[in-house]
Amino acid sequence: MDMRELEQQCKNCFKCELAKTRTNVVFGTGNENAKVMFVGEGPGENEDLQGEPFVGRAGQLLNLMLDAVDLSREKDIYITNIVKCRPPKNRDPLESESECCIPYLRKQTVIIRPKIIVCLGRIAATRLISPDFKVTKEHGQWHFKGGMWFMGTFHPAALLRNQSNKPDAMEDLLSLKDKMKELEIIK
Ligand code: SF4
Repeated sequence: MDMRELEQQCKNCFKCELAKTRTNVVFGTGNENAKVMFVGEGPGENEDLQGEPFVGRAGQLLNLMLDAVDLSREKDIYITNIVKCRPPKNRDPLESESECCIPYLRKQTVIIRPKIIVCLGRIAATRLISPDFKVTKEHGQWHFKGGMWFMGTFHPAALLRNQSNKPDAMEDLLSLKDKMKELEIIK
């Protein structure tokens, strides 16, 4: 299956309750040949309306932070979420919803074959790195699993609520850049 077929399948998905309240399925965007994937928890209001991940205020902050470390969201990264439909009122996705949706992320990962996965926020990190992951304590640490490097960092929406974590988040992006150099993804 290629990415377009997977996207079509996902856009016609009614496997969980989130299908009932979504406006659009938010499948993922960015470079499908990138070696780095960013994974958040789920679409917010703007993402649901536009059908694209990280387009609201949190997305704009992420863009600024990537610019600051000279990484290109379009060229260097593919970006998606654990659940592809917006949880009502931006609540955390339920375990059952994540479980239903994660096969799409797995298939995206098989097609893209990233070397690095950056988990944006607790929901993605507990799902993809370890169930008891604590972002404030363990952000920026590297974990090698299944042939890929994983790192958890702050969700940009959390940074909008708590600006004091921004310097740590920038350190994490610099660490990502170092890892990309080490793996010869960039020079
Ligand atoms: S969240 Fe995922 S599993 Fe649930 S309806 Fe949307 S695409 Fe399907």
